[in-house]
Amino acid sequence: MTQPIAILGMGQLGWMLSRAGERIGASVQLLDPDAPEQPGPNTLISVESEHWPDNPGTRQLRAHPGWQNPNALDILPNRIQQKTVLDELQLPTAPWCRPKDDDQAKDLHQTLGPDFLLKRARGGYDGRGQLRVKASEATPLPDWKTEAIAESAIGFDTEVSLVGARGRDGRCVFYPLTENYHRQGVLTVSLSQPTRFSALQRTAETMLTKLMDHLDYVGLMAMECFLVGDKLLINEIAPRVHNSGHWTQEGATICQFELHLRALLGWPMPQPETRGTTAMVNLLGMEHQQEWLAVTGARLYWYNKAHRPGRKMGHINLQHPEPQRIADWLRELPLPADYDESRAWALERLSFEG
Ligand code: ATP
Ligand code: MG
Repeated sequence: MTQPIAILGMGQLGWMLSRAGERIGASVQLLDPDAPEQPGPNTLISVESEHWPDNPGTRQLRAHPGWQNPNALDILPNRIQQKTVLDELQLPTAPWCRPKDDDQAKDLHQTLGPDFLLKRARGGYDGRGQLRVKASEATPLPDWKTEAIAESAIGFDTEVSLVGARGRDGRCVFYPLTENYHRQGVLTVSLSQPTRFSALQRTAETMLTKLMDHLDYVGLMAMECFLVGDKLLINEIAPRVHNSGHWTQEGATICQFELHLRALLGWPMPQPETRGTTAMVNLLGMEHQQEWLAVTGARLYWYNKAHRPGRKMGHINLQHPEPQRIADWLRELPLPADYDESRAWALERLSFEG
């Protein structure tokens, strides 16, 4: 009998995992993080997010024999511990330090340069829990500085991410590096273009493999990087399926959600093949619009969540063998004016291909 999988979390990532599981005959149950049901002893327990509330139910889950990836989930959710392990493995990151009680902004500027970010050690996502500190602005440091890391702002050329999975036998497979555009710290568009970052692919895979091996990790992991010249600096690691991997739903023979489940179950994990170029657009803070569906290539995923400004409400994948078709669809797609820059960013890259 197939071993059941339980996912801690009931958001869009959990939903897409259970959807992928249904298709391939994997049984996926979603657990409410506020009051999780305790799954049977044979169940494998994974997470949709590395952050969950601490309550008796989640504490019990962590003690369950089926709890997956205890190492990764103990270390990575805390930015201090995550950066420390990356340093130990000599994996390059943005220069960082731990602010001390009596540190003022000027002390940290001495170590990190004129522009740095304070990032809360725990709980931040979508750019929340972060403060940019510029020498020119004389920003006072908040009282949470000792529960944070300080990190130099990087003048990157672009941002890329590597999404891959490690199986129970330690074998890893990866998707091609994805290029990501963020607006105010939140991902708006991802692009997967077949050969754009081929020269960096091996290096990136070696980096993430080293970390997954060290943590004895099983399942899907994402590595977000800044690209500076031809150097990759790790921004952060997510021990789960990742927004920058959503394009694989249309752009690869095995999508990231399915790959995560296959890895957990010890099922076959051949190298996914990709289908040319794919673009993914996040629908941030928008109400549902049937006009999106007038664009013939728009594959809409709507999360059915309560509307909140800026919230990830859904995403649209655009996939076609000819990048110019994707560009046409992207131009047609009704999006608010604050997407103009994100759209122009993607169109510019697609035009180089066409
Ligand atoms: P998410 O969980 O959505 O990935 P997050 O809240 O964990 O986001 P980060 O990934 O740390 O936040 O940062 C979000 C974005 O902010 C980055 O993708 C990048 O665009 C920008 N950013 C973060 N750190 C730096 C840095 N050191 N230098 C320059 N830009 C940065
Ligand atoms: Mg990030």
